[in-house]
Amino acid sequence: MSGVFVFIENADGQIPAIAKEMMTAGRIIADGLSEDLVALVIGSDVDDVVDAAFDMGADDVLAADDESLAPFRVEAVGPLVVSLAQDKEPSVILAGASTRGRDLAAWVAADLDAGLVADGTGIKVEDDVVKVTRPVYAGKLLASVFVTEGTQVITLRGRSFPQADGIGNSGSAETVDAVVAEDDIASKVTGFAAKDGGVSLTDANIIVSGGRGVAGPEGFEPVQALADVLGAAMGASRAAVDAGWIPYEHQVGQTGKTVSPDLYIAAGISGAIQHQAGMRTSKVIVAINKDPEAPIFKLAQYGIVGDLFEVLPALTEEFSGRLS
Ligand SMILES: Cc1cc2nc3c(=O)[nH]c(=O)nc-3n(C[C@H](O)[C@H](O)[C@H](O)COP(=O)(O)OP(=O)(O)OC[C@H]3O[C@@H](n4cnc5c(N)ncnc54)[C@H](O)[C@@H]3O)c2cc1C
Repeated sequence: MSGVFVFIENADGQIPAIAKEMMTAGRIIADGLSEDLVALVIGSDVDDVVDAAFDMGADDVLAADDESLAPFRVEAVGPLVVSLAQDKEPSVILAGASTRGRDLAAWVAADLDAGLVADGTGIKVEDDVVKVTRPVYAGKLLASVFVTEGTQVITLRGRSFPQADGIGNSGSAETVDAVVAEDDIASKVTGFAAKDGGVSLTDANIIVSGGRGVAGPEGFEPVQALADVLGAAMGASRAAVDAGWIPYEHQVGQTGKTVSPDLYIAAGISGAIQHQAGMRTSKVIVAINKDPEAPIFKLAQYGIVGDLFEVLPALTEEFSGRLS
């Protein structure tokens, strides 16, 4: 059993940040185990992705290039990764804790009867054991979890590791074939609808979020105005989403998105543990709340006690002056 497989998400030749982050994590594991870092490049027209995988530090690349493998469908990609794992017997199979990565990891772990450690935020290798740090109890505790035997399947949250880039490896990939014929794949992708504008919450470096304190849908206007000036995504608490002021896709927290931006600005959010579960790993947290006792201030590095309807426009004006 040897090798650290990293699943390289890709679409139309593009590699999302989370795949680059997984290559950094994969390198840490591979070096810790003294094993090879093997990138799994699966899709259609993947030559550029193969080159990029080497450039991100892969020792080897296993490449499957077939129209049935793009866009991603777990019924096509899952059996292929399972078959590669049965053939090569890697120590670890690593994927990002994204929608695709979670889908794939669950499929692969179930089919291989392997242990799965999901949603980690850190890793270390001790005595040839890969230990994954994962937040538990809504992020109140960090557990160290590992698998005692066989291949270990791991997913790690986005923005937990820096992106691998420009390592400069090169080589040629070992090509492998798809294992499921198109006719045997139950789901078909008929097209994609682009979302109108806005910055993706999970990819954002900066997030400005509003809670019940915004007091209505129009209360998100100053939140959006600051987000626009900062090039930020807009988040929300569940209270604001449940009130119908903003769509669910903006919800941050235990039952919403888990985010880890460089800067998280929470306006009119009390800081309930379920909200914290989705944002407490943010690098810098700024809270704006008129109640000095609000729990969010215990988590925030910077707190502004005041009315968000005064503070947000003042910040927007100041930032737009400085950033323009
Ligand atoms: C199983 C479960 C899952 C949950 N999942 C989530 C989740 O994913 N995400 C989530 O967010 N919540 C979640 N919740 C709900 C969570 O418990 C809280 O109810 C919710 O986070 C509260 O949202 P809030 O902070 O916006 O509202 P509140 O707690 O009502 O806080 C509003 C804050 O705004 C401040 N304020 C009011 N007016 C102003 C003003 N003009 N200027 C400045 N400050 C002002 C107030 O002082 C107050 O602190 C979940 C709950 C459960 C039980």
